[in-house]
Amino acid sequence: MNSPATEPSFRESVDIMFNRAVALMDLPPGLEEKIRVCNATYTVRFGVRLRGQIQTFTGYRSVHSEHMEPVKGGIRFALGVNQDEVEALAALMTYKCSLVEAPFGGSKGGLCIDPREYDDHELELITRRFAYELIKRDLINPSQNVPAPDMGTGEREMAWIADQYKRMNTTDINGSACVTGKPTNAGGIQGRTEATGRGVQYALQEFFRDPEGLKKAGLSGQLDGKSVVVQGLGNVGYHAAKFLSEEDGCRIVGVIERDGALTDPKGLNIEAVRSWIGNHGGVAGYADATYVEDGASVLETDCDILIPAALEGVINLSNAERVVAPLIIEAANGPVTAGADAILRDKGTVIIPDMYANAGGVTVSYFEWVKNLSHIRFGRMQRRQEEARHQLVVDELERLSHHLGDKWSMTPDFKDKYLRGAGELELVRSGLDDTMRAAYQSMASVWHERDDVQDLRTAAYLVSIAKVAASYRAKGL
Ligand code: NAD
Repeated sequence: MNSPATEPSFRESVDIMFNRAVALMDLPPGLEEKIRVCNATYTVRFGVRLRGQIQTFTGYRSVHSEHMEPVKGGIRFALGVNQDEVEALAALMTYKCSLVEAPFGGSKGGLCIDPREYDDHELELITRRFAYELIKRDLINPSQNVPAPDMGTGEREMAWIADQYKRMNTTDINGSACVTGKPTNAGGIQGRTEATGRGVQYALQEFFRDPEGLKKAGLSGQLDGKSVVVQGLGNVGYHAAKFLSEEDGCRIVGVIERDGALTDPKGLNIEAVRSWIGNHGGVAGYADATYVEDGASVLETDCDILIPAALEGVINLSNAERVVAPLIIEAANGPVTAGADAILRDKGTVIIPDMYANAGGVTVSYFEWVKNLSHIRFGRMQRRQEEARHQLVVDELERLSHHLGDKWSMTPDFKDKYLRGAGELELVRSGLDDTMRAAYQSMASVWHERDDVQDLRTAAYLVSIAKVAASYRAKGL
């Protein structure tokens, strides 16, 4: 991003935040360094014949920590991808998986490409070739390294990767588990596409159940009616904004995209904005809101909750002082630089850190991986049995009611709701909600109980590093 030259790189920023936390821990000598460093980064350059000539692409797959395997982390398609970035993102994956107890080490990959410059067929050729290079080195493998979607990639790319793996490993019965975020008709799980945005929603719901946290942010009441600014209406930002506005009563007063921002104090219609972007490639020209050409300036809007959900480094030394939202939830990875983090902490801004805020994606990816390895959809065995048992209770209640002269009856939709056994989507949402609540509680107890911990990010690092350290200690280095 266009941050000042004095700003540390993304990876350095992650290391600074890591170091702040380990300074409060009592780790054995050497272990701290072992956890912090990135184990390996593989760089690949490959050619693909496109439009009558060979084009060369550069990609990376970085493995941060193998204290648990497989390692896990998305694959990003963006022009800005570089080694520093994938290493920072791989490190964040280690801490994120540890915090939400997904049994993986951290990894990340990326390809330097603007996917909008290629048609579907060209993108498939490029993705398959990149996957081929990684698969033959076991950098994509169900038991060693399992990618997922990230910026610029989605379920389509994941389906190509899974298919490529299966073509190269025809007898691997667990082949589908080599990548997550696949479409449901290609081994995916319901609720994965929306999972990261859904996780942001659950994280905010849990924060609003924490009176002490709310007090520290200077907020009160419920999510209902809170004003929200979202940067990036892609997979994560769109789903978070949609659920928060449609289900929790938030007003999305600003949406920032590549080509500018839209504002409306009464609240934007997220579906309408999303479809406008889909048809016109940006927010400019959308009629039912105020258009702001300098989109980044809208990060400084006076609102209750700021959700950066696009890319890293957008809140940095150049603008942190002017960011006034009392609560920032980092839906993107690394949107606040280490320098900006210090400025915001001094101002009393509460930041719900990326490693927690966007962990919904890896959590549901974990469920998908388990589903692929067990070769059965969640809920398939027990759903009808559950319904039959509920039916017994309803029949008995109806019999009793009749016996008492029909003086009372069940509320109209109780029967329907109660009778329905949980299918895959309900189970995924329940597992995700439980994970987000438990992880918040683990961070918040450190944040509220330790005098030397002033912020949620440090608390998150403390919880997660302690678990990684315990895992290294248990297995020996
Ligand atoms: P995406 O490609 O679906 O969406 C990114 C959005 O940001 C797009 O709408 C794009 O137009 C917009 N954008 C790009 N540059 C911008 C700029 N300079 N200003 C404003 N908007 C800009 O990506 P995504 O999957 O939603 O990922 C977004 C962030 O969330 C990334 O940091 C990613 O690492 C993180 N994340 C994603 C997932 C996931 O499951 N997809 C999981 C965890 C974390």
